[in-house]
Amino acid sequence: MASCNWRGSLVSLGSMRYIEPHAHMVSRTTDDYTAMVTAGCQAVCEPAFWAGFDRRTAEGFHDYFLQLVDYEPRRAKKYLLPHYCWLCINPKESEDVKLAEEVISLIPSLLDRKSVLGIGEIGLNKNSRNEYKILEMHIQLAVDHNQLILVHTPHLEDKLKGTRLILQALKNFPTIDPSRVIIDHVEEHTARLVLDAGYWAGMTLYPESKCTPARAVDILEILGTERLWLNSACDWGHSDPLAVPKAGLEMRRRGYTEEQVDAVLYHNPVQFLSQSPHFQI
Ligand SMILES: [Zn+2]
Repeated sequence: MASCNWRGSLVSLGSMRYIEPHAHMVSRTTDDYTAMVTAGCQAVCEPAFWAGFDRRTAEGFHDYFLQLVDYEPRRAKKYLLPHYCWLCINPKESEDVKLAEEVISLIPSLLDRKSVLGIGEIGLNKNSRNEYKILEMHIQLAVDHNQLILVHTPHLEDKLKGTRLILQALKNFPTIDPSRVIIDHVEEHTARLVLDAGYWAGMTLYPESKCTPARAVDILEILGTERLWLNSACDWGHSDPLAVPKAGLEMRRRGYTEEQVDAVLYHNPVQFLSQSPHFQI
């Protein structure tokens, strides 16, 4: 089928290949897996995050970690899609410091599992003191176990302040190699801060709030394409699991070559993720 409407059918996405480096697949349907693979997805990576409700016990998180490490890769495999994950207690549930400490203590025993890429998505949500304390504990965990780090930055009016606080927290660990850290959900006003400090930056594509595919491509045109990845972060809320290939199509529509699209959608995430020995593509 020819492409007459770039927002339309999967068939119009052609032979594009891409990595979905940040997607919350436990809340997606099997139809989404089919759609992603059909659109050219080569691997999906799932950071630990909020499940739409606050879990009350460390045991609840342990079950969730097993879902990420064991069950979801098996479900994805039925659709021929390699599935990787990141582990942490997300900032939205980090306000209870005692619970967070218990959850963090569960993580080291799972880091050897072959689908685990690192510690994430850690970070800040409301920029609170307790969230910051738990962020520091996660960074220490990553340092102690030589893990990659994936960072969530807050939304809307909290984003700039939160991003600055996160950069400061990372700077307090001088042994961390910035090229092993990706700071996600950057926007126009935070991307430069992240890249100038030597970190990777992730752009999250959302139908509402965060970046649209068109906005993300605008940012690429300003910043270039080095040390950046695009993701859909598709979760239990209104989100689009095909946002990444749609951004690729937007790039093609603006005159980027197939190779340039491939560099951003495929090679960039592969370059970052291959720093984990568990990531095989
Ligand atoms: Zn996320």
